[in-house]
Amino acid sequence: MELFKPMDKPGEDEKKQKTEGEAERLKCLIIGSGPAGYTAAIYAARANLNPVMYEGMQPGGQLTTTTEVENYPGYPEGVSGPVMMEDLKKQAGRFGTDIRWGVATAVDFSTTPHRVIIDNKKTIEAEAVIVATGATAKYLGIEAETKYAGQGVSACATCDGFFYKGKDVAVVGGGDTAAEEALYLSGLCNKVYLIVRKDHMRASRVMQERVLNTPNIEMMFEHNVKDLFGENGVEGALLIHKMGTPDEKEVKIHISGFFLAIGHTPNSGIFKPYLETDDVGYINTVPDTSKTNVDGVFACGDVMDSTYRQAVTAAGTGCRAAIDAERYLTSRF
Ligand code: NDP
Repeated sequence: MELFKPMDKPGEDEKKQKTEGEAERLKCLIIGSGPAGYTAAIYAARANLNPVMYEGMQPGGQLTTTTEVENYPGYPEGVSGPVMMEDLKKQAGRFGTDIRWGVATAVDFSTTPHRVIIDNKKTIEAEAVIVATGATAKYLGIEAETKYAGQGVSACATCDGFFYKGKDVAVVGGGDTAAEEALYLSGLCNKVYLIVRKDHMRASRVMQERVLNTPNIEMMFEHNVKDLFGENGVEGALLIHKMGTPDEKEVKIHISGFFLAIGHTPNSGIFKPYLETDDVGYINTVPDTSKTNVDGVFACGDVMDSTYRQAVTAAGTGCRAAIDAERYLTSRF
């Protein structure tokens, strides 16, 4: 069975990169931080691969915007997301990972070593590349989200919740993220509307129960968001109840903060000319490995996992990626 279909070759424009100075040559480059990237770094550093990590836009990844992580083994009392990421970073640094600020802005995987451009200017040439770029929060796509960006619209309750202390806010989504964000905000805000488009939530039972048992969270099942309104920032949202049915009606709620929690998009854009992905953009890997369709390029964490998306599974795939990279380098050089 053919695991990967041949990819379209990237155009010349995609290959041309304005870069400064000589390329830096590395054995192992890790793109992206988070549980996958840091775990890959711990393993790669301990295997003497001298890894360099570029942390990306959000050092520490999505867990830096999470409150309590209760399901990562080894923390019986739970741990805050930012603390856990700081611990992982320290552990990666302890074995010599060179952790740097910077974002990979383009790649050329048609050559060996593989070329990666950092911040549109610096060129890295790496024998092995580990992609751990994670995923980014989704937005609904309504105009008001852009209009009120930074003025009431947020995709991170932990980052921005504080600004809405004592006020009324809304969270959109029916998954674990939405439940978690609503619970977090319920401790800060006067009232939290949880807007769910179906008549049930997708969140795990324990999270659903917590949400339903929190007095200042008001469930709004079968509601879709049509628009936001307000003179100086968000003052309310216009919702549609039972959209597309004969009972459809508009509902107005008055809120100061509007939080999106409707899932994520994998951060695989720059790799797409070279790496095969599924329809959504998750990088395909050879089953039971971290190998992509390009020799020497490995993927781990949320950028390749559309199913589990947990810190612990991300860490597991990061471990795989480093072991696969080490075996690749040993067999080749
Ligand atoms: P999910 O994909 O699980 O849920 C997304 C939610 O957003 C769904 O309820 C979905 O509705 C809704 N949604 C999507 N698009 C729209 C839209 N356009 N309008 C309105 N609603 C929309 O994403 P999560 O981020 O919640 O979770 C991702 C993964 O991470 C899951 O596996 C989850 O279990 C895990 N996770 C675990 C945590 C923990 O264990 N502490 C914390 C957070 C996440 P619908 O159901 O109708 O499709």
